[in-house]
Amino acid sequence: MSEKRQNPLALDKESMRKFGYAAVDAIVEYFDGVDQQSVVPPKSRQSLPRNLQEFSEEPKPIDTLLKDSLSGVFDDCMNLIHPRFFAYIPGPGNFVSTVGDLLVSGHNVFAGISPHNLGAQIVEANTIRWLCDLADMPETAGGLFVSGGSVAILTGLAAGRTRILKDRVEGARIYCSDQTHSSVERALGLLGFDSSQLREVNVKPDFRIDVTDLERQICADAESGYKPFCIIGNAGTTNTGAVDPLDELAAIAAKHELWFHVDAAYGGGALLSQRGKRQLEGIGLADSISFDPHKWLFQPYENACVLVKDPATLRDTFRRVPDYMRDSDQPQHLTNYRDMSPQVTRGFKAFKLWLSLHAYGVSAFRQSVDHGLDMAEYFQSVLEKRKNWQVVTPATLGVVTFRYLFDGNAEQQDELNRELIQCINEDGYAFFSSTRIHGRDVNRGCPINPALTHADIDSTVAKLEELAQSLLDNH
Ligand SMILES: *Cc1c(COP(=O)(O)O)cnc(C)c1O
Repeated sequence: MSEKRQNPLALDKESMRKFGYAAVDAIVEYFDGVDQQSVVPPKSRQSLPRNLQEFSEEPKPIDTLLKDSLSGVFDDCMNLIHPRFFAYIPGPGNFVSTVGDLLVSGHNVFAGISPHNLGAQIVEANTIRWLCDLADMPETAGGLFVSGGSVAILTGLAAGRTRILKDRVEGARIYCSDQTHSSVERALGLLGFDSSQLREVNVKPDFRIDVTDLERQICADAESGYKPFCIIGNAGTTNTGAVDPLDELAAIAAKHELWFHVDAAYGGGALLSQRGKRQLEGIGLADSISFDPHKWLFQPYENACVLVKDPATLRDTFRRVPDYMRDSDQPQHLTNYRDMSPQVTRGFKAFKLWLSLHAYGVSAFRQSVDHGLDMAEYFQSVLEKRKNWQVVTPATLGVVTFRYLFDGNAEQQDELNRELIQCINEDGYAFFSSTRIHGRDVNRGCPINPALTHADIDSTVAKLEELAQSLLDNH
Protein backbone atom coordinates (compact mmCIF):
# COMPACT_ATOMS: atom_id res chain seq x y z
CA MET A 1 0.00 0.00 0.00
CA SER A 2 1.41 3.39 -0.89
CA GLU A 3 1.84 5.96 1.82
CA LYS A 4 -0.68 8.78 1.81
CA ARG A 5 0.78 12.30 1.73
CA GLN A 6 0.17 14.05 5.02
CA ASN A 7 0.79 17.71 4.34
CA PRO A 8 -0.64 19.98 7.01
CA LEU A 9 -0.38 22.91 4.57
CA ALA A 10 -2.40 21.24 1.82
CA LEU A 11 -6.04 22.01 1.07
CA ASP A 12 -8.29 19.64 -0.84
CA LYS A 13 -9.17 20.70 -4.37
CA GLU A 14 -12.66 21.78 -3.45
CA SER A 15 -11.41 24.07 -0.67
CA MET A 16 -8.65 25.52 -2.85
CA ARG A 17 -11.23 26.42 -5.48
CA LYS A 18 -13.66 27.89 -3.01
CA PHE A 19 -11.04 30.02 -1.32
CA GLY A 20 -9.35 31.05 -4.56
CA TYR A 21 -12.59 31.98 -6.32
CA ALA A 22 -13.76 33.94 -3.30
CA ALA A 23 -10.49 35.89 -3.29
CA VAL A 24 -10.77 36.61 -7.02
CA ASP A 25 -14.38 37.72 -6.53
CA ALA A 26 -13.21 40.12 -3.84
CA ILE A 27 -10.61 41.61 -6.19
CA VAL A 28 -13.16 41.96 -8.99
CA GLU A 29 -15.56 43.79 -6.67
CA TYR A 30 -12.70 46.03 -5.58
CA PHE A 31 -11.73 46.99 -9.13
CA ASP A 32 -15.36 47.52 -10.06
CA GLY A 33 -16.41 49.59 -7.06
CA VAL A 34 -13.33 51.45 -5.89
CA ASP A 35 -14.36 54.74 -7.51
CA GLN A 36 -17.49 54.78 -5.31
CA GLN A 37 -15.38 54.62 -2.15
CA SER A 38 -13.41 57.34 -0.47
CA VAL A 39 -9.81 57.48 -1.67
CA VAL A 40 -8.38 56.77 1.76
CA PRO A 41 -10.09 54.96 4.62
CA PRO A 42 -12.30 57.35 6.62
CA LYS A 43 -10.74 56.54 9.95
CA SER A 44 -8.00 53.96 10.22
CA ARG A 45 -8.12 51.83 13.34
CA GLN A 46 -5.01 51.67 15.49
CA SER A 47 -4.94 47.89 15.79
CA LEU A 48 -6.38 44.82 14.10
CA PRO A 49 -9.90 43.67 15.00
CA ARG A 50 -9.82 41.35 18.01
CA ASN A 51 -10.38 38.15 16.09
CA LEU A 52 -7.33 38.85 13.91
CA GLN A 53 -4.93 39.79 16.68
CA GLU A 54 -3.66 36.53 18.10
CA PHE A 55 -2.15 33.63 16.23
CA SER A 56 -3.50 30.39 17.59
CA GLU A 57 -2.40 26.78 17.29
CA GLU A 58 -5.79 25.89 15.85
CA PRO A 59 -6.87 26.72 12.28
CA LYS A 60 -9.50 29.40 11.69
CA PRO A 61 -12.25 28.88 9.10
CA ILE A 62 -10.83 30.21 5.90
CA ASP A 63 -13.96 31.88 4.50
CA THR A 64 -14.43 33.93 7.67
CA LEU A 65 -10.75 34.73 7.68
CA LEU A 66 -11.00 36.10 4.16
CA LYS A 67 -14.01 38.27 5.04
CA ASP A 68 -12.35 39.51 8.21
CA SER A 69 -9.13 40.40 6.41
CA LEU A 70 -10.99 42.28 3.71
CA SER A 71 -12.72 44.45 6.27
CA GLY A 72 -10.01 44.47 8.94
CA VAL A 73 -6.92 44.90 6.77
CA PHE A 74 -7.61 45.98 3.19
CA ASP A 75 -10.46 48.37 4.03
CA ASP A 76 -7.93 50.26 6.13
CA CYS A 77 -5.43 50.79 3.30
CA MET A 78 -5.18 53.69 0.83
CA ASN A 79 -6.94 53.02 -2.46
CA LEU A 80 -4.05 53.72 -4.79
CA ILE A 81 -6.02 52.52 -7.80
CA HIS A 82 -8.74 55.13 -7.15
CA PRO A 83 -9.04 57.58 -10.09
CA ARG A 84 -8.83 60.58 -7.73
CA PHE A 85 -5.65 59.47 -6.00
CA PHE A 86 -3.46 62.43 -7.04
CA ALA A 87 -0.73 62.18 -4.40
CA TYR A 88 2.93 61.16 -4.77
CA ILE A 89 2.97 58.90 -7.80
CA PRO A 90 -0.34 57.03 -7.99
CA GLY A 91 -0.39 53.26 -8.45
CA PRO A 92 -3.35 52.54 -10.73
CA GLY A 93 -2.45 48.87 -11.26
CA ASN A 94 -4.48 46.72 -13.64
CA PHE A 95 -6.42 43.50 -13.37
CA VAL A 96 -4.43 41.37 -15.82
CA SER A 97 -1.15 42.03 -14.00
CA THR A 98 -2.88 41.28 -10.73
CA VAL A 99 -3.80 37.84 -12.02
CA GLY A 100 -0.26 37.58 -13.41
CA ASP A 101 1.07 37.99 -9.88
CA LEU A 102 -1.29 35.27 -8.70
CA LEU A 103 -0.06 32.88 -11.39
CA VAL A 104 3.60 33.59 -10.63
CA SER A 105 3.05 33.15 -6.95
CA GLY A 106 1.04 29.98 -7.56
CA HIS A 107 3.96 28.46 -9.46
CA ASN A 108 6.50 29.88 -7.06
CA VAL A 109 8.88 30.67 -9.90
CA PHE A 110 12.51 31.17 -8.91
CA ALA A 111 13.83 33.75 -11.34
CA GLY A 112 17.41 33.78 -10.08
CA ILE A 113 18.78 31.04 -12.30
CA SER A 114 18.12 30.02 -15.87
CA PRO A 115 19.07 26.34 -16.31
CA HIS A 116 15.85 24.27 -16.08
CA ASN A 117 14.01 27.57 -15.85
CA LEU A 118 13.95 28.87 -19.40
CA GLY A 119 10.32 29.94 -19.36
CA ALA A 120 11.01 32.60 -16.78
CA GLN A 121 14.40 33.54 -18.16
CA ILE A 122 13.15 34.12 -21.69
CA VAL A 123 10.13 36.17 -20.61
CA GLU A 124 12.31 38.40 -18.44
CA ALA A 125 14.93 38.82 -21.19
CA ASN A 126 12.17 39.57 -23.69
CA THR A 127 10.49 42.18 -21.54
CA ILE A 128 13.80 43.84 -20.66
CA ARG A 129 14.62 43.91 -24.39
CA TRP A 130 11.33 45.69 -25.07
CA LEU A 131 12.07 48.24 -22.35
CA CYS A 132 15.61 48.82 -23.66
CA ASP A 133 14.22 49.40 -27.16
CA LEU A 134 11.65 51.79 -25.74
CA ALA A 135 14.50 53.78 -24.20
CA ASP A 136 16.55 53.67 -27.45
CA MET A 137 19.37 51.79 -25.77
CA PRO A 138 21.86 49.86 -27.92
CA GLU A 139 21.15 46.28 -28.95
CA THR A 140 23.74 44.99 -26.50
CA ALA A 141 21.89 46.58 -23.56
CA GLY A 142 20.24 44.49 -20.87
CA GLY A 143 19.13 44.55 -17.28
CA LEU A 144 16.69 42.96 -14.91
CA PHE A 145 13.65 43.48 -12.73
CA VAL A 146 14.05 44.62 -9.14
CA SER A 147 11.68 45.64 -6.38
CA GLY A 148 11.60 49.39 -6.91
CA GLY A 149 13.30 52.51 -8.19
CA SER A 150 15.43 52.82 -5.07
CA VAL A 151 16.93 49.36 -5.61
CA ALA A 152 17.30 50.04 -9.33
CA ILE A 153 19.34 53.16 -8.54
CA LEU A 154 21.41 51.24 -6.00
CA THR A 155 22.08 48.50 -8.55
CA GLY A 156 22.98 50.92 -11.36
CA LEU A 157 25.29 53.00 -9.19
CA ALA A 158 26.96 49.86 -7.80
CA ALA A 159 27.77 48.84 -11.39
CA GLY A 160 29.18 52.31 -12.04
CA ARG A 161 31.27 52.17 -8.88
CA THR A 162 32.83 48.90 -10.00
CA ARG A 163 33.35 49.96 -13.62
CA ILE A 164 34.70 53.47 -13.07
CA LEU A 165 36.23 53.35 -9.60
CA LYS A 166 37.16 49.68 -9.25
CA ASP A 167 35.19 50.00 -6.01
CA ARG A 168 37.60 52.58 -4.52
CA VAL A 169 35.26 55.33 -3.40
CA GLU A 170 37.67 57.68 -1.66
CA GLY A 171 37.79 61.14 -3.23
CA ALA A 172 35.09 60.28 -5.74
CA ARG A 173 32.43 62.86 -6.59
CA ILE A 174 28.87 62.36 -7.80
CA TYR A 175 26.73 65.06 -9.44
CA CYS A 176 23.00 65.57 -9.68
CA SER A 177 20.52 68.41 -9.45
CA ASP A 178 19.05 69.52 -6.14
CA GLN A 179 15.70 68.13 -7.35
CA THR A 180 16.98 64.55 -7.37
CA HIS A 181 15.08 61.84 -5.48
CA SER A 182 16.34 61.04 -1.98
CA SER A 183 16.91 57.40 -2.94
CA VAL A 184 20.10 58.52 -4.70
CA GLU A 185 21.58 59.83 -1.48
CA ARG A 186 20.56 56.65 0.32
CA ALA A 187 22.04 54.40 -2.38
CA LEU A 188 25.33 56.30 -2.27
CA GLY A 189 25.43 55.87 1.50
CA LEU A 190 24.96 52.12 1.14
CA LEU A 191 27.73 52.06 -1.45
CA GLY A 192 30.18 53.65 0.98
CA PHE A 193 30.13 57.26 -0.19
CA ASP A 194 29.69 59.95 2.45
CA SER A 195 27.27 62.82 1.92
CA SER A 196 30.02 65.33 1.07
CA GLN A 197 30.80 63.30 -2.04
CA LEU A 198 27.41 64.09 -3.53
CA ARG A 199 27.47 67.46 -5.29
CA GLU A 200 24.05 69.02 -5.65
CA VAL A 201 23.99 71.21 -8.72
CA ASN A 202 21.65 74.20 -9.05
CA VAL A 203 18.66 74.11 -11.32
CA LYS A 204 17.36 76.68 -13.79
CA PRO A 205 13.94 78.30 -13.16
CA ASP A 206 12.33 75.34 -14.96
CA PHE A 207 13.92 72.95 -12.42
CA ARG A 208 16.24 71.37 -14.97
CA ILE A 209 19.86 71.02 -13.96
CA ASP A 210 22.13 73.94 -14.84
CA VAL A 211 24.65 72.21 -17.11
CA THR A 212 27.09 75.12 -17.04
CA ASP A 213 27.20 74.96 -13.27
CA LEU A 214 27.56 71.18 -13.50
CA GLU A 215 30.57 71.33 -15.76
CA ARG A 216 32.15 74.07 -13.73
CA GLN A 217 31.89 71.90 -10.60
CA ILE A 218 33.28 68.83 -12.36
CA CYS A 219 36.32 70.76 -13.62
CA ALA A 220 36.88 72.45 -10.25
CA ASP A 221 36.73 69.11 -8.43
CA ALA A 222 39.12 67.46 -10.90
CA GLU A 223 41.57 70.35 -10.49
CA SER A 224 41.40 70.00 -6.72
CA GLY A 225 42.40 66.35 -7.01
CA TYR A 226 38.98 64.76 -6.56
CA LYS A 227 37.71 62.05 -8.86
CA PRO A 228 34.49 62.99 -10.65
CA PHE A 229 32.77 59.65 -11.11
CA CYS A 230 29.11 59.86 -11.97
CA ILE A 231 26.31 62.13 -13.19
CA ILE A 232 22.71 61.34 -12.32
CA GLY A 233 20.13 62.87 -14.63
CA ASN A 234 16.42 63.12 -13.90
CA ALA A 235 13.84 61.93 -16.39
CA GLY A 236 10.91 63.32 -14.46
CA THR A 237 11.55 64.65 -10.97
CA THR A 238 9.09 63.68 -8.28
CA ASN A 239 8.55 67.32 -7.28
CA THR A 240 7.60 68.91 -10.59
CA GLY A 241 8.14 66.31 -13.35
CA ALA A 242 11.17 68.23 -14.66
CA VAL A 243 13.44 66.45 -17.13
CA ASP A 244 17.13 67.33 -17.18
CA PRO A 245 18.70 67.90 -20.62
CA LEU A 246 19.72 64.25 -20.86
CA ASP A 247 21.59 64.52 -24.17
CA GLU A 248 23.75 67.33 -22.81
CA LEU A 249 24.42 65.36 -19.62
CA ALA A 250 25.40 62.33 -21.71
CA ALA A 251 27.88 64.47 -23.66
CA ILE A 252 29.44 65.85 -20.48
CA ALA A 253 29.66 62.37 -18.97
CA ALA A 254 31.33 61.03 -22.12
CA LYS A 255 33.78 63.94 -22.26
CA HIS A 256 34.89 63.44 -18.63
CA GLU A 257 34.58 59.63 -18.73
CA LEU A 258 31.92 59.49 -16.04
CA TRP A 259 29.15 56.98 -15.38
CA PHE A 260 25.79 58.35 -16.51
CA HIS A 261 22.72 57.17 -14.64
CA VAL A 262 19.26 58.34 -15.64
CA ASP A 263 16.57 58.16 -12.99
CA ALA A 264 13.41 57.48 -14.97
CA ALA A 265 11.68 55.75 -12.07
CA TYR A 266 8.61 57.86 -12.66
CA GLY A 267 9.12 59.45 -16.09
CA GLY A 268 10.10 56.28 -17.95
CA GLY A 269 6.46 55.57 -18.73
CA ALA A 270 6.36 58.73 -20.85
CA LEU A 271 8.52 56.93 -23.42
CA LEU A 272 5.32 55.28 -24.67
CA SER A 273 3.87 58.62 -25.70
CA GLN A 274 5.27 60.51 -28.68
CA ARG A 275 5.25 63.88 -26.96
CA GLY A 276 6.53 62.30 -23.75
CA LYS A 277 9.36 60.61 -25.58
CA ARG A 278 10.46 63.86 -27.22
CA GLN A 279 11.10 65.27 -23.76
CA LEU A 280 13.35 62.36 -22.80
CA GLU A 281 15.70 62.82 -25.75
CA GLY A 282 19.10 61.34 -24.93
CA ILE A 283 17.92 58.80 -22.35
CA GLY A 284 19.28 55.95 -24.49
CA LEU A 285 22.83 57.22 -23.98
CA ALA A 286 22.76 56.33 -20.29
CA ASP A 287 25.05 53.71 -18.77
CA SER A 288 22.24 52.76 -16.43
CA ILE A 289 18.57 53.66 -16.09
CA SER A 290 16.14 53.17 -13.22
CA PHE A 291 12.58 52.66 -14.48
CA ASP A 292 9.49 51.73 -12.44
CA PRO A 293 6.66 50.06 -14.35
CA HIS A 294 4.85 50.13 -10.98
CA LYS A 295 4.55 53.87 -11.46
CA TRP A 296 3.62 54.98 -14.95
CA LEU A 297 3.23 51.60 -16.65
CA PHE A 298 0.32 50.78 -14.37
CA GLN A 299 1.77 47.64 -12.76
CA PRO A 300 0.85 46.54 -9.24
CA TYR A 301 3.71 46.70 -6.73
CA GLU A 302 6.46 45.70 -6.93
CA ASN A 303 7.73 46.19 -10.44
CA ALA A 304 10.83 48.13 -11.39
CA CYS A 305 13.90 47.54 -13.46
CA VAL A 306 17.46 48.60 -13.99
CA LEU A 307 18.57 48.84 -17.61
CA VAL A 308 22.27 48.98 -18.45
CA LYS A 309 24.15 49.75 -21.62
CA ASP A 310 26.55 46.88 -20.94
CA PRO A 311 25.17 43.95 -18.92
CA ALA A 312 28.73 42.78 -18.22
CA THR A 313 29.02 45.68 -15.76
CA LEU A 314 26.30 44.12 -13.61
CA ARG A 315 27.96 40.71 -13.78
CA ASP A 316 31.37 42.17 -12.87
CA THR A 317 29.72 43.77 -9.86
CA PHE A 318 27.54 41.00 -8.52
CA ARG A 319 28.56 37.61 -9.90
CA ARG A 320 29.71 35.06 -7.34
CA VAL A 321 29.65 31.31 -7.84
CA PRO A 322 29.83 29.58 -4.47
CA ASP A 323 30.23 25.78 -4.42
CA TYR A 324 26.62 25.27 -3.47
CA MET A 325 25.39 27.18 -6.53
CA ARG A 326 27.88 25.85 -9.08
CA ASP A 327 25.38 23.50 -10.72
CA SER A 328 23.35 26.45 -11.82
CA ASP A 329 26.26 28.37 -13.31
CA GLN A 330 25.04 29.21 -16.76
CA PRO A 331 26.09 28.20 -20.21
CA GLN A 332 27.27 31.32 -22.06
CA HIS A 333 24.04 32.04 -23.93
CA LEU A 334 21.84 32.14 -20.84
CA THR A 335 21.39 34.79 -18.20
CA ASN A 336 21.45 33.97 -14.54
CA TYR A 337 19.77 36.97 -13.00
CA ARG A 338 21.25 36.17 -9.61
CA ASP A 339 24.60 37.20 -11.18
CA MET A 340 23.29 40.70 -11.89
CA SER A 341 21.89 41.99 -8.62
CA PRO A 342 22.27 41.66 -4.85
CA GLN A 343 19.45 39.08 -4.81
CA VAL A 344 19.80 35.34 -5.24
CA THR A 345 16.28 34.12 -4.64
CA ARG A 346 14.07 36.44 -6.60
CA GLY A 347 10.50 36.39 -7.82
CA PHE A 348 9.37 36.54 -11.41
CA LYS A 349 8.32 40.19 -11.62
CA ALA A 350 8.68 40.39 -15.40
CA PHE A 351 5.67 38.17 -15.97
CA LYS A 352 2.93 40.59 -14.99
CA LEU A 353 4.26 43.35 -17.23
CA TRP A 354 4.78 40.89 -20.09
CA LEU A 355 1.29 39.43 -19.65
CA SER A 356 -0.44 42.80 -19.49
CA LEU A 357 1.42 44.15 -22.55
CA HIS A 358 0.19 41.13 -24.51
CA ALA A 359 -3.32 41.12 -23.07
CA TYR A 360 -4.18 44.80 -23.52
CA GLY A 361 -1.83 45.49 -26.44
CA VAL A 362 0.85 48.18 -26.27
CA SER A 363 -1.53 50.81 -27.68
CA ALA A 364 -3.69 50.63 -24.53
CA PHE A 365 -0.63 51.63 -22.52
CA ARG A 366 0.23 54.43 -24.95
CA GLN A 367 -3.32 55.78 -24.69
CA SER A 368 -3.19 55.58 -20.92
CA VAL A 369 0.09 57.50 -20.68
CA ASP A 370 -1.19 60.14 -23.11
CA HIS A 371 -4.37 60.37 -21.06
CA GLY A 372 -2.27 61.23 -17.99
CA LEU A 373 -0.42 63.95 -19.90
CA ASP A 374 -3.77 65.34 -21.11
CA MET A 375 -5.33 65.22 -17.67
CA ALA A 376 -2.44 67.14 -16.10
CA GLU A 377 -2.83 69.83 -18.77
CA TYR A 378 -6.56 69.91 -18.20
CA PHE A 379 -6.05 70.18 -14.44
CA GLN A 380 -3.74 73.15 -15.02
CA SER A 381 -6.25 74.83 -17.35
CA VAL A 382 -9.10 74.44 -14.85
CA LEU A 383 -6.97 76.08 -12.14
CA GLU A 384 -5.94 78.86 -14.48
CA LYS A 385 -9.54 79.69 -15.36
CA ARG A 386 -10.39 80.33 -11.74
CA LYS A 387 -9.11 83.45 -10.10
CA ASN A 388 -7.99 82.12 -6.71
CA TRP A 389 -5.45 79.64 -7.93
CA GLN A 390 -1.81 80.01 -8.83
CA VAL A 391 -0.23 77.33 -10.99
CA VAL A 392 3.25 77.19 -9.47
CA THR A 393 4.74 74.79 -12.01
CA PRO A 394 2.81 73.92 -15.18
CA ALA A 395 1.86 70.36 -16.21
CA THR A 396 5.15 68.59 -16.83
CA LEU A 397 5.16 64.84 -17.41
CA GLY A 398 1.85 64.59 -15.59
CA VAL A 399 2.73 66.70 -12.55
CA VAL A 400 1.19 70.07 -11.60
CA THR A 401 1.95 72.13 -8.51
CA PHE A 402 -0.43 74.84 -7.37
CA ARG A 403 -1.47 77.11 -4.54
CA TYR A 404 -4.63 78.73 -3.31
CA LEU A 405 -4.08 82.49 -3.25
CA PHE A 406 -5.83 85.06 -1.11
CA ASP A 407 -5.15 88.38 0.52
CA GLY A 408 -2.54 87.55 3.11
CA ASN A 409 1.18 87.23 3.54
CA ALA A 410 3.21 84.28 2.27
CA GLU A 411 3.25 82.53 5.66
CA GLN A 412 -0.53 82.71 5.95
CA GLN A 413 -0.84 81.35 2.44
CA ASP A 414 1.56 78.52 3.30
CA GLU A 415 -0.49 77.64 6.33
CA LEU A 416 -3.81 77.67 4.54
CA ASN A 417 -2.48 75.49 1.73
CA ARG A 418 -1.10 72.98 4.22
CA GLU A 419 -4.47 72.86 5.95
CA LEU A 420 -6.24 72.56 2.62
CA ILE A 421 -4.39 69.34 1.76
CA GLN A 422 -5.19 67.93 5.19
CA CYS A 423 -8.86 68.81 4.72
CA ILE A 424 -9.29 67.28 1.29
CA ASN A 425 -7.45 64.16 2.40
CA GLU A 426 -9.61 63.77 5.50
CA ASP A 427 -12.68 64.33 3.39
CA GLY A 428 -11.71 61.37 1.23
CA TYR A 429 -13.10 62.72 -2.04
CA ALA A 430 -9.62 63.08 -3.49
CA PHE A 431 -6.13 62.58 -2.16
CA PHE A 432 -3.20 64.96 -2.67
CA SER A 433 0.31 65.43 -1.38
CA SER A 434 2.30 68.60 -0.95
CA THR A 435 5.85 69.73 -1.41
CA ARG A 436 7.96 72.84 -1.20
CA ILE A 437 8.88 74.96 -4.21
CA HIS A 438 11.07 78.07 -3.89
CA GLY A 439 10.72 77.78 -0.12
CA ARG A 440 6.91 77.87 -0.19
CA ASP A 441 4.33 75.18 0.61
CA VAL A 442 2.55 74.05 -2.52
CA ASN A 443 0.03 71.39 -3.42
CA ARG A 444 0.98 68.80 -5.93
CA GLY A 445 -1.21 66.70 -8.21
CA CYS A 446 -0.28 63.77 -10.40
CA PRO A 447 -3.50 62.94 -12.30
CA ILE A 448 -2.32 59.90 -14.25
CA ASN A 449 -4.95 57.27 -13.46
CA PRO A 450 -6.26 55.94 -16.81
CA ALA A 451 -9.84 55.96 -15.48
CA LEU A 452 -9.73 59.63 -14.51
CA THR A 453 -12.32 61.88 -16.21
CA HIS A 454 -12.60 65.61 -16.85
CA ALA A 455 -15.61 65.57 -14.52
CA ASP A 456 -13.40 64.11 -11.74
CA ILE A 457 -11.05 67.05 -12.13
CA ASP A 458 -13.83 69.65 -12.31
CA SER A 459 -15.45 68.31 -9.17
CA THR A 460 -12.12 67.98 -7.36
CA VAL A 461 -11.14 71.59 -8.04
CA ALA A 462 -14.63 72.74 -6.99
CA LYS A 463 -14.25 70.75 -3.78
CA LEU A 464 -10.78 72.19 -3.11
CA GLU A 465 -12.13 75.69 -3.61
CA GLU A 466 -15.06 75.09 -1.31
CA LEU A 467 -12.74 73.76 1.40
CA ALA A 468 -10.31 76.64 0.96
CA GLN A 469 -13.16 79.13 1.23
CA SER A 470 -14.46 77.63 4.43
CA LEU A 471 -10.95 77.52 5.91
CA LEU A 472 -10.60 81.17 5.05
CA ASP A 473 -13.99 82.01 6.57
CA ASN A 474 -13.04 80.24 9.81
CA HIS A 475 -9.71 81.99 10.18
C1 LIG B 1 9.55 56.91 -6.89
C2 LIG B 1 10.86 57.42 -7.34
C3 LIG B 1 12.04 56.78 -6.94
C4 LIG B 1 12.05 55.64 -5.96
O1 LIG B 1 11.40 54.52 -6.49
P1 LIG B 1 10.71 53.42 -5.53
O2 LIG B 1 10.08 52.49 -6.50
O3 LIG B 1 9.72 54.17 -4.69
O4 LIG B 1 11.79 52.81 -4.71
C5 LIG B 1 13.22 57.28 -7.45
N1 LIG B 1 13.24 58.32 -8.29
C6 LIG B 1 12.11 58.96 -8.69
C7 LIG B 1 12.21 60.12 -9.63
C8 LIG B 1 10.88 58.52 -8.22
O5 LIG B 1 9.76 59.16 -8.61
